[in-house]
Amino acid sequence: MNPTRHLGASSFRRFSFAFGSLLAFAGLVGCQPEPGIEPANLVLHRGKIATVDDQNPEVEALAARQGVIVALGSNDDIAQWIGPDTEVIDLEGRLAVPGFIEGHGHFMGLGLSRIQLDLRQATRWQDILEQVAEAAESTPPGEWIRGRGWHQDKWTEIPQPQLEGFPLHDSLSSVAPDHPVLLVHASGHAAFVNAKAMELAGIDASTPDPEGGEILRDAAGQATGLLRETAQNLVRGAMGDGFLASPVEARRMAKLASEECIAKGITSFQDAGSSFEVADFLRQELDDGNVKLRLWMMIRAGNDALRENIGSYWQRSAEDPWLKVGAIKLSLDGALGSRGAWLLEPYSDAPESVGLNLVSLESARETAEIALANDVQIGIHAIGDRANREVLDIYEAVFEGQPAKDRRWRVEHAQHLHLDDIPRFGELGVIASMQAVHCTSDGPWVPERLGEQRTEDGAYVWQKLLQSGAVVTNGTDAPVEDVDPLASYYSAVTRRLNDGSLFYPDQVMGRHEALRSYTLDNAYAAFEEDTKGSLEVGKLADIVVLSQDILSVDAEQIPDTEIVYTIIDGEVVYRGKS
Ligand SMILES: [Zn+2]
Repeated sequence: MNPTRHLGASSFRRFSFAFGSLLAFAGLVGCQPEPGIEPANLVLHRGKIATVDDQNPEVEALAARQGVIVALGSNDDIAQWIGPDTEVIDLEGRLAVPGFIEGHGHFMGLGLSRIQLDLRQATRWQDILEQVAEAAESTPPGEWIRGRGWHQDKWTEIPQPQLEGFPLHDSLSSVAPDHPVLLVHASGHAAFVNAKAMELAGIDASTPDPEGGEILRDAAGQATGLLRETAQNLVRGAMGDGFLASPVEARRMAKLASEECIAKGITSFQDAGSSFEVADFLRQELDDGNVKLRLWMMIRAGNDALRENIGSYWQRSAEDPWLKVGAIKLSLDGALGSRGAWLLEPYSDAPESVGLNLVSLESARETAEIALANDVQIGIHAIGDRANREVLDIYEAVFEGQPAKDRRWRVEHAQHLHLDDIPRFGELGVIASMQAVHCTSDGPWVPERLGEQRTEDGAYVWQKLLQSGAVVTNGTDAPVEDVDPLASYYSAVTRRLNDGSLFYPDQVMGRHEALRSYTLDNAYAAFEEDTKGSLEVGKLADIVVLSQDILSVDAEQIPDTEIVYTIIDGEVVYRGKS
């Protein structure tokens, strides 16, 4: 690699275009230090540094200056880079790896999840009612109570009365009669609301289902409180709370998301779908120092807005080491848990349903043409096997007749695949943007939805994809799952469910394979492998130091691993306790 190419993306935190200084510095990178050379700002030594660079996989020490790695080698090699002002970190034998890259998460959603009720631990509907009742006591009447993370399949008892396993709104309405309440499903693809929220949203028996969504109704036609997919927007519209409607709250959310990621060893975050306005807002938050990790963003917007703006956002951010607008995002189907994933054949546990198609194929094709015309990536959410096939068909059709090019278009989730479609990822150069932790969270109920055969053939088939030549990335879809990379890493290398059983373990990733999926492969999936994802001279000094060696420790100990240091741009931004 040519190290001088990458300095624009690293040395000047807030000033991407300081080319003069860049060139002056560039001449030094990669050279052996000479007498009088400027020492490093940061040295890590006496450790095991797994570089994720096949040419030089393991070293004891590294040196970084002005945010960029300038040398790697033995402790002796690196000693000469230490000057009087160098910060020297003694790794004491610990493992350092490239900073984790979250491959698919929702940055502002993660922040929001920290300021609303966390319903993930609820094992009964009654638990959720108690949380809401408590919140109602401390919230002024009329203000919204928001929660997220419930999942009916985690409940140990079925609520009564119920419809399709979901409660009816009356119980929720009675604990919070004066507050509108919105409780978002763990998947984000459904929400449960009370009477006050439906009143504000104008939902009653005569409200039609919006396109791509469903208001679940009882036998008498009354809304039960469950809103699937786009039906949630009826209530969100009534809230009037796009993330930026309350700037103070938005800033708090951004800060909380940044702090949580850094504490968990994440140095870059791939945001899977925000508006242009949120991209502008986050750029400002980086400038203000409120957000401290790097962002790569996919934009979710209507085709007209994309046609008008995506090219200029991409060009403007191309050299920005902190926030790049790299792709377009859209969702073709929903999630498996809420039976919104679009399947080729009906659900095994709901034979009348094949799931939901959220965006017409014509519109999705048009969006893909916009990506092609502007030379940006696109990431289309596809969970069900039908949705995945349709996305691959769209990509194939759009590429047809075009000059061969490295485009790295992505399928977000690629979760349930028909056997015939698995080799198409590698053939088309399409990235399977997957989240290992979904496999172990969802594993207990996937066979109910899909039946054993479809599950075995195509559910979270990392190895089948890798062996057919596809790039498989990793992440958490936070706040759907905890953003913790080590939890997803553990899932990737074990496929062990909470009950101790293994979910089709022939599909596990190896330890190094999983580390690569979380670092270099995620960087590749964003065209950032020249600056991120491995520890090499000339690349960004984004590094995480772990309390134990996740490449060799007993697998069952991996979840106990702690973050000792998170280093971004050559600076320690987080220090753990161990
Ligand atoms: Zn997502």
